[in-house]
Amino acid sequence: IQLQQLLAHMSDRPTPKPRAHRKRYSAEELRLAIAGGQLINHYQPKVAFASGAITGVETLVRWDHPEDGLVFPDQFIDLAEECGLIDALTQTVLDSALKQARRWQAAELSLPLAVNVSMDNLTRLEFPELVEQRVAEAGIAPSYLTLEVTESRLMKNRLESLDILTRLRLKRFGLSIDDFGTGHSSLVQLRDIPFTELKIDRDFVRGAPNDASARAILEASLSMAQQLGMTTVAEGVEDLEDWDFLRARGVDVAQGWFIAKPMPADDLSAWIAAWEL
Ligand code: C2E
Ligand code: CA
Ligand code: CA
Ligand code: CA
Repeated sequence: IQLQQLLAHMSDRPTPKPRAHRKRYSAEELRLAIAGGQLINHYQPKVAFASGAITGVETLVRWDHPEDGLVFPDQFIDLAEECGLIDALTQTVLDSALKQARRWQAAELSLPLAVNVSMDNLTRLEFPELVEQRVAEAGIAPSYLTLEVTESRLMKNRLESLDILTRLRLKRFGLSIDDFGTGHSSLVQLRDIPFTELKIDRDFVRGAPNDASARAILEASLSMAQQLGMTTVAEGVEDLEDWDFLRARGVDVAQGWFIAKPMPADDLSAWIAAWEL
C-alpha cells in the first residue's frame, strides 16, 4: 500500500514540459518593441467562488512579435528588469489597461483591473503619484486598480518598497501579494505592508488536493489572510477538482483556465456575456 501511495503521489507531480522554443531577445529589440507598440495586454477574469460573479480582470502582457508571434512574459520581463526597461514596460501596460478600463466603463461594464508591477518599479518615490495621475486622467476610481507584486521578490530594497507600497495604499489602490507561498519572508511582510489581497501560487493550488504539505501551506496562508481581512485569490484553478476543493476551503476568488484563459480585450465582452457558473 505504501508503494502504491508513493506512486500515486508521484504521478501527481507535473511531468517536465519539453523545452519550448526560446529565443534570447536583446535589450534593443525590447526597447523598440515597447516604443513601437508591440506589447499588448491580455486579460484574465477572476470570479467569486460563492456566486460566480466576475470580480475583475488581471492584465497579462504579451509581445506581439512580427516574426515570432505571441511571446510570453517569462521571455522578456527579466530582461526588462535587467536592462532598465521595466519602468517603460509597466507604463505601457498600465496606460493601455487604463484605456481599456475606460472603454469598459463607457460600455457600462464595471471591471476592476489588476496590473502586475515589478519590485524594480517600487524604487522610485514618484511612482505612487505617477499612477495616481494616470488613473485620474482615465477617470477611473483608484479602488478599481489593484497592483500585483510578486512576493518572492519583495525583500530587495525592503524599506524603500515598504514606503512606496504604503503610499499607494493611502491613495486607495488595491495591493495584492502575488505568488504567495513561494517567497521567504511572507509573514513579516504581511504584517508590515497593507496588502488588500493575497494570491496563492498555482503550485499550492495544484498540489493541495493530494499533497499534505502543499495543503498545510495553503490552509495556513488562508487563515492568516482571513484574519488580516485580506481577499484571498487562488490562481491556476484548472479543473472542477481544484474549484471544489478551494471553494470548500473558503477561498474568495478563483482565477485559472477552469474559468477562462487570458484573452484579448475584444474577446472579453463576448466571454462575459456567455459566462455562467
Ligand atoms: P502571474 O502574475 O503569476 O500570472 C499568472 C500566470 O499564470 C500567467 O502567465 C497566466 O497566463 C497563467 N495562468 C493563468 N491561469 C492558469 C491556469 O489555470 N493554469 C496555468 N498553468 N497557468 C495559468 P503569463 O501570462 O505567462 O505570465 C507569467 C508571469 O509574467 C506573471 O505571473 C507575472 O509575474 C509576469 N507578468 C505578466 N504580465 C506582466 C506585466 O505586465 N508586468 C510585469 N512586471 N510582470 C508581468
Ligand atoms: Ca499576477
Ligand atoms: Ca501569480
Ligand atoms: Ca504564479
